[in-house]
Amino acid sequence: MIRRFRLAVLFVCAAMFVAAPAGADDKLKVVASISIIGDLVKSVGGDRVDVTMLVGPNSDAHVFSPTPSDAKTLGAAKAVFINGMGLEGWITRLIAAAGTKSKPVVVSAGITPRQAEEGGHHTVDPHAWQSVANVKIYVTNIRNGLKKADPAGGAAYDANAKAYLGKLDELEREVRETIGKIPADRRKIITTHDAFGYFKDAYGVEFIAPQGVSTESEASARDVARIIQQIRKQKIPAVFLENISDPRLLKRIADETGAKMGGTLYSDALTDEKGDAPTYIDLIRHNIRTLGAALMT
Ligand SMILES: [Zn+2]
Repeated sequence: MIRRFRLAVLFVCAAMFVAAPAGADDKLKVVASISIIGDLVKSVGGDRVDVTMLVGPNSDAHVFSPTPSDAKTLGAAKAVFINGMGLEGWITRLIAAAGTKSKPVVVSAGITPRQAEEGGHHTVDPHAWQSVANVKIYVTNIRNGLKKADPAGGAAYDANAKAYLGKLDELEREVRETIGKIPADRRKIITTHDAFGYFKDAYGVEFIAPQGVSTESEASARDVARIIQQIRKQKIPAVFLENISDPRLLKRIADETGAKMGGTLYSDALTDEKGDAPTYIDLIRHNIRTLGAALMT
């Protein structure tokens, strides 16, 4: 009896040693709602996970409409990572359609939501990733979610998360250094939609936008007139485009006010591999360099 037990233990140990790195089919299939979260999940999951994003690069999560194939992807996933804070208004229906029983991991859990105005009523601003400090919380939640879905990878997820958190510390120093070089009275800009509130609260640059925290409703003529007045009155130096929004409105505002076009800021989505912001760290770095270049001169 004892001998048989020992043999079984030996067998299990041997199996653990040979069960090392797996091919694509053996990877943990996970889903991320948006490209920014997808990149964070890849950074923490490393080569143990196969990440599918529902809303891909250069796409707008506010107006996303899932397809039956998204439901299928979700149904096959071992873990689903969403931002929460109302960003993915479509996720509950999609989860129901997918018939999956596991609850999504809300990566913003533990962050105090920023309040905002949308069409005259209070709402929560979902763009918490625009503060690097918040993304450290995202990474911790992602690590915990992966460990729960794949306990055998625990040590790998711990190590990957630790390394990535170190990079975020470095990134945050860079943000503060760059913003610190911009004269205080020039730290105000115009963007298309109100996606940079967390950045403003964390790093002290004021963002003014004709559209609210969602892109679902268009800016009204009154909103646009108010912005044009504000640019003139406060001498706001520059106007920035976003990769997910129509550039025409902001080009018109720049023409009417003489504010300069400062370039493109990445708010809600990464670019593809060839773009300026294929990863979250690239996105923040691109944004601060673009802000710095436009506002320091
Ligand atoms: Zn947004």
